[in-house]
Amino acid sequence: MDDALLTLAGLSKHFGALTACDSVTLDLRPAEIHALIGPNGAGKSTLMKLIAGELPADAGSVTLDGENISDLNAVQRARKGMARTFQISSLAPEFTVLQNVMLSGLRFKTSVFNMLPRIMNRSDLRERAMELLQRVDLTARAETPVAAISHGERRQLEVALALAANPKLLLMDEPMAGMGPDGTRRLTDLIASLKREVPILLVEHDMDAVFALADRLTVLVYGKIIASGSITEVRENPAVQEAYLGASA
Ligand code: ADP
Ligand code: MG
Repeated sequence: MDDALLTLAGLSKHFGALTACDSVTLDLRPAEIHALIGPNGAGKSTLMKLIAGELPADAGSVTLDGENISDLNAVQRARKGMARTFQISSLAPEFTVLQNVMLSGLRFKTSVFNMLPRIMNRSDLRERAMELLQRVDLTARAETPVAAISHGERRQLEVALALAANPKLLLMDEPMAGMGPDGTRRLTDLIASLKREVPILLVEHDMDAVFALADRLTVLVYGKIIASGSITEVRENPAVQEAYLGASA
């Protein structure tokens, strides 16, 4: 626990009579991928929102790099280094892949249109953006409008946008959703290559991807953690087999 980058302690969230997250305690350590799995409605997305500060928790705390950030809002948490990927709306489809990455570093996107030529001439922004595109294997698509790239390439681009902020960690909620086998394989490789620089809390349904990527695995059922540990430990856990992995484990 000592070297944890992110620590959740007793995090709870109720929606009326429903307990979506029930005293969840887990941590994320440097250079690891910690996967969070569980059936639909288990509370995984709610937990990600509690961590990111998009929803207020009813109880518990969130500690980032030794600092209790429980009272900070989503924007403040993002400034502290928390990045959430796969919010498609953050992409501007009329701009190219490269322009999206260059613009992601700027604050006022709405008024950006007039300034676009000047911004696009900034060689510092351009170089950094090209580095990020290389990182996510999108160099060849730099000049393509986002509206024309594939679903999988959008996901790669969203990773580049998240990395642009130099985050301390990444929160990913079902990155493989809606992707074909090729896209899933490419995104799996990309995520695997990121963890040394930025640890990842990964919610994912695709169990092949989870088994390929996760250093540790936590299983959430009805808002409660029923098992947590290495992949082997969790797979062999009888409660997990009964509640969730049954057929596939
Ligand atoms: P998961 O991501 O594991 O599928 P969610 O976190 O989306 O699960 O949902 C957990 C439970 O909380 C579900 O029963 C869901 O219907 C409920 N829930 C999620 N968000 C809300 C909300 N804003 N208001 C009321 N109930 C919600
Ligand atoms: Mg979800």
